[in-house]
Amino acid sequence: MSPKPPSQQQTHQTDDYLKLRKSITIQEASDSQIKKIYQILRSSQKDLQQFSVSQRAAEIDKIIGYIKANKEAICTRIVTDTGKSRTDALVSEVLGVLDNLHWNKANAHKILKLRKVSTPISLLGKKSYIQQEPYGTVLIIAPWNYPFHIAMTFITGAFLAGNSIIFKPSEHTPLTGLIEEICAISPLLKQSLKVVYGSGVTAEKLIDEKPNKIFFTGSTRTGKAILKKASQYIIPVDLELGGKDAMVVFPDVDIKRTVAGALWGGLTNAGQSCTSVELLCIHKDIFEQFIEQLTTAVQPLVINTGDQGDADIGAMTTDFQLEIVKQQLDDAIEKGATIIAGGNTFNEKGRFFPPTLVSNISPEMKLYQEETFGPVIALLPFDDEKQLATELNQLPYGLSASIWSRDIDRARRLANAIQVGAVSINNVMLTEGNPALPFGGVKQSGFGRAKGKEGLLAFTRSKSILIDKQSSKIEPNWFPYTRQKYQLFQQLIDVLFTPSWIKLIKLAKTGLALEKEAQRDRGNQ
Ligand code: NAD
Repeated sequence: MSPKPPSQQQTHQTDDYLKLRKSITIQEASDSQIKKIYQILRSSQKDLQQFSVSQRAAEIDKIIGYIKANKEAICTRIVTDTGKSRTDALVSEVLGVLDNLHWNKANAHKILKLRKVSTPISLLGKKSYIQQEPYGTVLIIAPWNYPFHIAMTFITGAFLAGNSIIFKPSEHTPLTGLIEEICAISPLLKQSLKVVYGSGVTAEKLIDEKPNKIFFTGSTRTGKAILKKASQYIIPVDLELGGKDAMVVFPDVDIKRTVAGALWGGLTNAGQSCTSVELLCIHKDIFEQFIEQLTTAVQPLVINTGDQGDADIGAMTTDFQLEIVKQQLDDAIEKGATIIAGGNTFNEKGRFFPPTLVSNISPEMKLYQEETFGPVIALLPFDDEKQLATELNQLPYGLSASIWSRDIDRARRLANAIQVGAVSINNVMLTEGNPALPFGGVKQSGFGRAKGKEGLLAFTRSKSILIDKQSSKIEPNWFPYTRQKYQLFQQLIDVLFTPSWIKLIKLAKTGLALEKEAQRDRGNQ
């Protein structure tokens, strides 16, 4: 492989992508509806702030109970909107949500509580605190690939932190009414949330009403548009964007397990995951053997939707995504790629795309540079670890990666060398399986972190509080400035940043002199 220098890279899906998105009839929210929604939510947020974090956490318990009791019905709704396999719906969406809600509920109090922090000796007698405040009304804009997981995890996180929420689902998988139905189990959450349906047109109108923060999950293309729009109003934005994740396999792995991991990582949710394995980099010493086992293992996978939990890979969710995958494969074949399994022989009616393995990949192919977001795994042999890191770092995206080796030092070394937001070692897509770990990317994969401590803090601003005693004391750094004070401050600087045991004595002496000078000046006025 000889990757292009970054300046020549295509940084995200091409403009053709937009043309592919067939127009569907969408009911957009009107300007007056949107204004009214903001009015209601800005007022309800003031009520919500009166409740403690523990009280809000108790509401999350009700949501957990409701989801557990209704998990089968919820799965059916997810499958209907997305075409996923039922197990993908149950595990990645329902179980994923319950995990995150549970963790957030248990940890919110300690993460969001008022924290006392140290105060330096130069500010003797004062106390310092950090208080986490909700932003106010936050706007959450979501994509179509995990419509339940992203909705419930972010909505409840924002609520725990004390925000009212506008949730704009994808027009392609709106799960109409489901989120409202679940959240209604908590009257407090119900009055703090509005789900607004529509496309990007509605989302833009929602931004124009100036939410206090925007949490966007979706494509890099839309992320850029949102950032631009938000900059007009200086609205803070978190961007969880696309990816082109690599899985790196060294020769010392258990091949059977690693093959199973690669297939799941590349094909779960029909490859429509931001952290799907898209580039499978296999050490040249085991390349042939690995590919042989991969090709055998991919054959029995069952493709279906509307199943009873016994299909491995579901349908693709949208026509345009199916078309993008097809076009990327055509482009790769034209430029010399070899299809080892699957290929462009799909059943358009059911949007089923066969699990596809492709080799002889090169950097000028879309399949190498752009997010594929389908059940296609590109296979790349590598020889040298450093060279591989350089090549991976030249990709525009940097969401996550996985590294497989018995040599954990080597795996950690490579994990440190590659520019991504998360790395699973000897497993795949698993950092996001732990709700305690933050989730987010670098480069064109965005910024900001969801989930874990950082994910909850992202729904708040830090307010700094410093408390001094009420007294008649004038601070030495207040006016008037005198030459004597100036010299004493010079001494103070020398003493403060000197690592010596007599520092305290010197500091006390200089401090006292400064104090005296400050009070004397006051007396002179
Ligand atoms: P998308 O960017 O097309 O749409 C996402 C959301 O943005 C939708 O709700 C859409 O209506 C809205 N939108 C569209 N145009 C808009 C505009 N001009 N202003 C404001 N909002 C607008 O993305 P998608 O096709 O729905 O989702 C797939 C993408 O999401 C992939 O790139 C995938 O990698 C990414 N994704 C990222 C993560 C992550 O956590 N990093 C998770 C899931 C999906």
